[in-house]
Amino acid sequence: MIYLDHNASSPLAPTARAAWLEAEERFPGNPSSPHRMGARAEAALAEARRRLAGLLGCAATDLLWTSGATEACNTVLHHAAWAAPEAAVCLSAVEHPAVRESARQWFRDRVEEIPVDRDGVVDLRWLQARLAGHRPALVAVMAANNETGVLQPWRETQSLCAAAGVDFFCDATQWVGRLPVGGLGACAFVAGSAHKFGGPRGVGFLKVPGSRAVRPLLHGGGQLERRRAGTENVPGVLAMLAALEEAEMRLTAGEAERRRAERDRFAAAVMAAFPTARINGAGAERLWNTVSVVLPAAGGRPRWVVKLDKAGFAVSTGSACASGSEKPSHVLTAMGQDAEAAARAVRISGGWQTTGAEWEALLTALARIRAEAAESPRSR
Ligand code: PLP
Repeated sequence: MIYLDHNASSPLAPTARAAWLEAEERFPGNPSSPHRMGARAEAALAEARRRLAGLLGCAATDLLWTSGATEACNTVLHHAAWAAPEAAVCLSAVEHPAVRESARQWFRDRVEEIPVDRDGVVDLRWLQARLAGHRPALVAVMAANNETGVLQPWRETQSLCAAAGVDFFCDATQWVGRLPVGGLGACAFVAGSAHKFGGPRGVGFLKVPGSRAVRPLLHGGGQLERRRAGTENVPGVLAMLAALEEAEMRLTAGEAERRRAERDRFAAAVMAAFPTARINGAGAERLWNTVSVVLPAAGGRPRWVVKLDKAGFAVSTGSACASGSEKPSHVLTAMGQDAEAAARAVRISGGWQTTGAEWEALLTALARIRAEAAESPRSR
């Protein structure tokens, strides 16, 4: 099976696996325990916090460990609704459900959507005009979209929000481990999740404004300065850091450019083979690993994703959470696509291990499936 669904979950990287196993052996104690084994685990976490803070450009005390990005997003929205109970929240129209649904949960009818253009990029002029009015509790714009890979102007959004004195939340779940994280620490809140970049599942981080009170989502023990209760996942955190540092080294070595070229060759070949296809967000900057493409109907059902699965390729429709549901993707709808076209979208997302030969094999499989569909009278 060729795995091209890294935006849903990236397999554990060997370096992360080694770090995880080592941490399980070296730090079996609970970081909150009063003995030396507890203190050693606590020191390992403190060191991990310093390493992550150094990469992001923030203070170590700005960082909380979480169970992943969903918890991080929920914590931010829950906190913002408490900090400004009457105010609205402004979200880009293409945010992940972890942001959209938690905003609805705590802000109810005070959720405002920042529109995106046809390539799925947020409209900063809209935001600028909005920030001149009644101050929102929070602005949330993701760094990179999970369905299309489209990059958002998070640095510019952060500057606009800072000038208006409004907290900015950047859900950087798809950016972290794929593009350099330096500078993200300037955002008031940042979410990341290890399993998107070769770390283990069930661990992530949240950057908060460390000098201010943050209302916890989880209550219990006094971990992380009483901002996130629960025993920390020491091996998970250390494995996440190992995966992130490896990715940052790859980025420094220019590996993303080579992979972007391979992905671009594939996208161009798809357009040559399927002239009526459309690459979503083609006019915008996108993650080097992602191609979201609306393909022509492959002779009715089953859909492309099922046929590709049978042919040995794991790809996705929209986001992992939306796939399986028949609802059209809110991301593609916000970009102006109709439901019928959105239903034909295929999301292909590679990882650091994906090779040019695998992209080529996928292209061959797409052409074969189309030829078979054209020949099969049952599928017409
Ligand atoms: N935010 C974005 C942009 C995502 O892509 C995802 C996962 O698909 C999440 C949040 C939720 O992440 P997690 O699986 O760590 O809860």
